[in-house]
Amino acid sequence: MRLPGASSRVLRQAQAPLAFARIVQRHALHTKPFDAAVIGAGITGLTAAYQLSRDPSCSKVTLYEKSSHLGGWISSEKIPVPGGGHVVFEYGPRTLRPAAPASLPMMDLVRRRNLGQLDLLGEVRSIPKDHPASTNRYIYYPDRLVRLPSVRKDGIIHTFIRMLQEPMLRDIAWSLLTEGTKFRLEPEGYLRDESIADFLSRRLSSKVVDNVVSAVFAGIFGGDIYRLSAETVLGKVRLLEKEHDSIVVGMFADSQAYDKTMAMDDFLAIESVDLEQGRTTSTFKVLKTLGSTSSVVTMQDGLGQITDTLATRLRESGKVEIVSGKEVTAISQDSKTRDLTIGFGRADAKTHNRVIATHSPWNLCQQLRNTKAGQSIPSDTIQNLTEHKDSVTIMVVNLFYTEENLVPVEGFGYLLPNSVPFEQNPERALGVIFADQASVGQDTAPGTKLTVMMGGYLWDGWTEADYPDPDTAIQMAQTLLHRHLGITATPAVARSRLLRDAIPQYTVGHLSRIDRLSQSVRRDFDKRLTLAGSWYGTLGIGVVDCIRQAYLASSYGVGSKKLGRGKGPRPWTKYDYHHWELEGGIVTSPIRFDGVSPDERKHF
Ligand SMILES: Cc1cc2nc3c(=O)[nH]c(=O)nc-3n(C[C@H](O)[C@H](O)[C@H](O)COP(=O)(O)OP(=O)(O)OC[C@H]3O[C@@H](n4cnc5c(N)ncnc54)[C@H](O)[C@@H]3O)c2cc1C
Repeated sequence: MRLPGASSRVLRQAQAPLAFARIVQRHALHTKPFDAAVIGAGITGLTAAYQLSRDPSCSKVTLYEKSSHLGGWISSEKIPVPGGGHVVFEYGPRTLRPAAPASLPMMDLVRRRNLGQLDLLGEVRSIPKDHPASTNRYIYYPDRLVRLPSVRKDGIIHTFIRMLQEPMLRDIAWSLLTEGTKFRLEPEGYLRDESIADFLSRRLSSKVVDNVVSAVFAGIFGGDIYRLSAETVLGKVRLLEKEHDSIVVGMFADSQAYDKTMAMDDFLAIESVDLEQGRTTSTFKVLKTLGSTSSVVTMQDGLGQITDTLATRLRESGKVEIVSGKEVTAISQDSKTRDLTIGFGRADAKTHNRVIATHSPWNLCQQLRNTKAGQSIPSDTIQNLTEHKDSVTIMVVNLFYTEENLVPVEGFGYLLPNSVPFEQNPERALGVIFADQASVGQDTAPGTKLTVMMGGYLWDGWTEADYPDPDTAIQMAQTLLHRHLGITATPAVARSRLLRDAIPQYTVGHLSRIDRLSQSVRRDFDKRLTLAGSWYGTLGIGVVDCIRQAYLASSYGVGSKKLGRGKGPRPWTKYDYHHWELEGGIVTSPIRFDGVSPDERKHF
C-alpha cells in the first residue's frame, strides 16, 4: 500500500544498480559535521536529541523547550500518601504496547547499557497477557460494565457462549460471522479516505460501531470515529478488505501467510540505528520475550522515568545544550547558506544547519510568519500547516483511596461508547482506568487508584469558560464513579489536570495532508527542516510511534544517513528506494505496508 501522494517514479519496482546507489549515497551524506536544533522536549524531541548526540556527524545539539518541564505530555508524579508509602500518578500516557516490530526503537532506547546510555530495562514493569488487566477490558453498556471477549481467559467455547448470552457481544459475533458477505468498495474506492465509522459500519454494523468501536477510539484518540481517518488508523485492515473482500478472512490469511503485511517505517527505523555486534539480535530477544508475554508495559516510577533519564543523559553528554523555559517565537532561513535561525522574543536568536520541530503545527505556523523583514515567507508550508490543526482537550483526574478493592471487578478499566445517553454520562467521560491494576508494582501504599478521563471529542466546541476547574473536575469524577461503580469513599489524594489540545486528531484525509505538508516543507526549507512527533504520525499516535519517528527524523531526516541495501534481505530493496525522499519534511516510506518475508524480518 502506498502513501496517497507518492509518485509512480518513486515507487518504480526496478532496482538501481549497486554502483549508482553508492554514488547517490556518498553525494547525499554530510561532508562536514552539522549543528542541529530540536524544538520541543516531549518524548519525540528528547529521543531525537539523544540519537543526534550519539551521531558522530552531528557536532552540537540544542534542544529548545518552552516550559520548565521536560517530557511534554509525559508527566509522572510520585506522591506520599497519608499513613505511609507512595502512589504514582500519570497525567499523560501510562502504558506502552511492546509488540514487535513497532516497539523495537522504544526497546532499543530503554535497554542500552553502555556509559551514557539509558539502561532502564530493569525498571520496566510488564502486565502479563493472562493478568486480569490484560484479559478484562470493559465497555460501559448502560447501565453496567460488559467485559469484552477474551479467548485467552475464557477459551473458544466459553467465549462463544458468552457472546450468545450478552446482547452487546451477540451483535459483535453476528457481525463477524456475516462480515464476509458484506459489500466492499470498488477498487477505486480505496483511493479515497473514509471515516472509521463509515468503514466499520460497512464491514460490521452501525450498532457495533456505536456500542464498541466508538469506545475503543475514545480510549486511544479521545476522538470521534465519525471524523477519524480509516486510511491512517486502520490502513492495514482496509488493505485486507481490498485484497480478500473480507477483513476476517484477510486477518486469518495474513496470520498463515509466508509474507506478513507489515509497516515499512518500522523496518526503516530499525535500520536507522548503527547496531553494534549482536545488539539487534539481543534487543529482539528481549523484545520477543516481553511482546509474547505482556500486553502492555510501563515503568516502575511511571513513564516520566524514561523522559527524566533521557534529559539526564543529554545534560551529561557534553554535546547537548538544553534551553528550557524559553519559547521559540520565530524561525527563518538564510537564502544563501540555507541555515535556519531560531528566534526568541526581540533580539535573541541562534543559527543551526538542521532543525527538527516536534511542536504543534499552529505554533510552528506563527513562528514561520515571524520571518525577518526582507526574507521570503514559506507560504505553501504555512497554508498546509493551517489545514493540519484538529486536536482534543482532555481532563485527567487521578484519585487514590486508602481502601483496597473498591472496584467491583478486576481489570484494566472501562470505556464509554457514544451510545451512552447523556443522563448516564453528563460529565462527558471517555473512560476510567483501574490504575492500581493497570500498572502493577508502582505503588508502595495499599489502596485503590483510579484515573478518570473526560472531554476529548465530547468537549468539541467548548471554550475556556466551559472547562471545569481542577476541584470541580475532581467532584465530577467522584460523581461518575458513584453512579457507575457505586464508590462512595473519599479519596486520600486527588489531583486533576486539564490538557489543552493534547491529542492531535488524524481526521479523514490526514495522510494526504501530511504528504502535501511534507513536500512543501522540503521545498520551502531545502530539506533543512524536519517535522516529527504526534502531530505528524502516519501509523499511530502513541509514545512508541513518536519514538519511531524520532529515530527516522534524527537519521534520514537530517540527512546523516541514507537508506541503503542493509546487511541482508530488506523489504525496501524490491523498490526504487534510492529515489525515496527521506531528508527533511516528514520522514516516512512512500510504501506504507508490504508483504515481508521471513528472511526480510529475521534481522530484528
Ligand atoms: C491524556 C493522554 C494519555 C495518553 N496515553 C497514552 C498511552 O497510554 N500510551 C501511549 O503510547 N500514548 C499515549 N498518549 C499519547 C502520547 O502521550 C503522545 O503522543 C506523546 O507524548 C507526544 O509526544 P511529542 O513529543 O510528540 O509531543 P509533546 O509531548 O506535545 O511535546 C512537544 C513539546 O514541545 C514544546 N513546545 C511547544 N511549543 C514550543 C515552542 N514554541 N518552543 C519550544 N517548545 C515548544 C511543548 O511544551 C512540549 O514539551 C496519551 C496522550 C495524552 C494527552
